[in-house]
Amino acid sequence: MNIVLQGVTVTNWSKDPLLKLNTTQRRKLDNVIVTSRRMTADSLKLLRDYRSKRVVKSVDAQMAKDYFGSGEYVKEALDKYFGITKASPTFDADLDAIIAKLATTDGGLQAPFAIVVGNIHDGDDIRDGIRDAFHEVAQGQFSAAIASLKFIRTGTEGWVHGGHALKRIHLNVNSLDSESDGKVARIIVHEATHKFAGTVDVAYKWDNLKHNAGGHANLINNADSYAWACRLMWKRKRNLPSGS
Ligand SMILES: [Zn+2]
Repeated sequence: MNIVLQGVTVTNWSKDPLLKLNTTQRRKLDNVIVTSRRMTADSLKLLRDYRSKRVVKSVDAQMAKDYFGSGEYVKEALDKYFGITKASPTFDADLDAIIAKLATTDGGLQAPFAIVVGNIHDGDDIRDGIRDAFHEVAQGQFSAAIASLKFIRTGTEGWVHGGHALKRIHLNVNSLDSESDGKVARIIVHEATHKFAGTVDVAYKWDNLKHNAGGHANLINNADSYAWACRLMWKRKRNLPSGS
């Protein structure tokens, strides 16, 4: 299979030579690609507006609010998924770093790239994932290896193989059948931050990521923080219901 949707080349995994997307799955993936691009573009716009607001506010608070609004979606997303608030002394530097990483991700996503789809429950794919993890152990990258193994255990939605030159985005085809457009787009955004902006997996949402309850360090470089924050800002900006 080798199809092009929205300028994105979609192939199947080498272990899945018989997999072909049906009409419904193709339409879904088409929408998901469009949605993932909206998600990063919407979020980037909100974050940049909020950054401008911070600058204007130092001169004229009322003007900043009148022109840029409250910034409430940004504040909610940063607090919830990056664990940072205005009270933090490094807030502006963190905000700049997040904007820079998201800008790189958005630039990559808006251009043509490649997605590989397949069935994660195939034994070979699980073995590949474990092999990759042991490769990481051999290179002394223990936290990366643990993250890889944890991801396999908890049911992989997608991944980017960091050791592979192409760093292609892999997507579990089951996600297309079972998840909303926004949720699959969130997976694409997660993987795109690995691919284009070099993020790592510090913590997934289920690792007490919310409000950084887990006390994680360096969430500025955490893929899932970007994925969930972008979905939240996109949802709020477009006034979409929960579950979108
Ligand atoms: Zn990841």
